[in-house]
This record gives sequence, structure tokens and C-alpha cells, in this order.
Amino acid sequence: PSGSEPATKIVINLERLQQLPADKVGPLARYAAAIQSQRGDYNGKVLSIRSEDLRSLSIIYDMTPGELTDQLIDWGVLPPEARPSA
Ligand code: C2E
Ligand code: C2E
Ligand code: C2E
Repeated sequence: PSGSEPATKIVINLERLQQLPADKVGPLARYAAAIQSQRGDYNGKVLSIRSEDLRSLSIIYDMTPGELTDQLIDWGVLPPEARPSA
């Protein structure tokens, strides 16, 4: 869809993230691992991150936050409900 909006609630599916090729999700996987480490939060199936983190990640992926939201939904890392306009 045109003019995609960024996700408002970002809950990453960590199991799905593990299944995807590192050349695609490497930066995101490292970012999530760093947050888990800083929190000491290693046991979850999902990880809630800050909307500010989506902005940082979108710079790394050279996308807008809305485009990255669509990409993450496409990969199955975010649920379709993460898209605000859905
Ligand atoms: P929720 O935000 O809908 O999260 C549902 C469940 O997803 C959580 O159940 C937990 O098992 C998992 N989950 C979500 N984000 C993370 C994460 O970053 N790390 C890990 N390890 N698991 C995550 P849980 O823990 O029983 O929490 C139930 C509900 O209690 C949450 O529903 C939320 O409404 C509230 N809650 C728990 N912790 C927090 C928190 O730190 N801040 C806020 N505002 N609410 C929290
Ligand atoms: P910090 O940013 O100084 O946050 C200190 C503590 O405040 C956190 O300890 C957490 O208990 C609470 N806190 C801050 N913002 C939020 C929030 O939006 N929601 C909730 N539920 N709690 C919040 P914690 O979790 O042990 O994290 C330690 C440090 O790890 C944080 O210090 C921050 O530097 C880093 N960190 C953890 N999670 C994230 C994240 O999702 N994104 C980023 N950028 N940094 C994170
Ligand atoms: P949440 O805990 O339900 O927090 C929802 C929103 O409330 C956050 O959205 C943020 O705008 C605000 N908020 C909550 N606690 C704090 C705080 O201590 N300081 C400040 N400045 N704002 C706070 P945001 O940032 O998009 O975070 C979304 C979710 O990511 C949080 O939901 C929480 O589940 C997780 N999260 C973010 N940062 C941390 C962190 O440092 N530690 C932990 N354990 N979880 C975090």
C-alpha cells in the first residue's frame, strides 16, 4: 500500500527471526540481541522494542519506518496487525 505508516506497537517474533537468512535479518537480529542483553531478557518468544528503535533500524535498512514495517510484516517478524492502517 502507498504511504505505509510505521508500526505503533513493535513486538518482534524472535522464533521467526531465527529462521530467516542472516544476510537479510542480520542487522535486526543483532539489534534485538543487544536489547535482550541490556535487559537481561533471554527467555521470551517475543521482544517488545521502542518505536524509536524502529526509526534507528529504518536508517540501517535504508528505508522509511513505514517501509521497514511492511518488510518486517512480509518476513513474518511482525504480525499483520502491526500495520496501523490494516
Ligand atoms: P502484552 O504486552 O500484550 O504481552 C503479552 C506477552 O508477550 C507477555 O506476557 C510476554 O510473555 C510476552 N512479551 C511481550 N513483550 C516481551 C518482551 O519484550 N520480552 C519478553 N520476554 N516477553 C515479552 P506477560 O509477561 O505475562 O505480560 C502480560 C501483560 O502484562 C503484557 O501484555 C502487558 O500488558 C503487561 N506487561 C508486562 N510487562 C510489562 C511492561 O514492562 N510494561 C507494560 N506497560 N506492561 C507490561
Ligand atoms: P534506560 O533507558 O536508562 O532504562 C532504564 C530502565 O527504565 C529500564 O531498565 C526499564 O526498567 C525502564 N524503562 C525505560 N523505558 C521504558 C519503556 O519504554 N518501557 C518499559 N517497560 N520500561 C522502560 P531495563 O529494562 O533493565 O533496561 C536497561 C537499559 O537497557 C536501558 O536503560 C536502555 O539503555 C537499554 N534498553 C533496554 N531495552 C531497550 C530498548 O528496547 N531500546 C533501547 N534503545 N534500549 C533499551
Ligand atoms: P510499554 O512499557 O507499555 O511502554 C509504552 C510507552 O510508554 C513507551 O513506548 C514509551 O513511550 C512510554 N514509556 C514507558 N516507560 C517509559 C519510561 O520509563 N521512560 C519513558 N521516557 N517512556 C516510557 P516505546 O518507547 O515505543 O516502547 C514500547 C515497548 O517497548 C514498551 O511498552 C516496553 O514493552 C518495551 N520497552 C521499551 N524500552 C524498554 C526498556 O528499556 N526496558 C524494557 N524492559 N522494555 C522496554
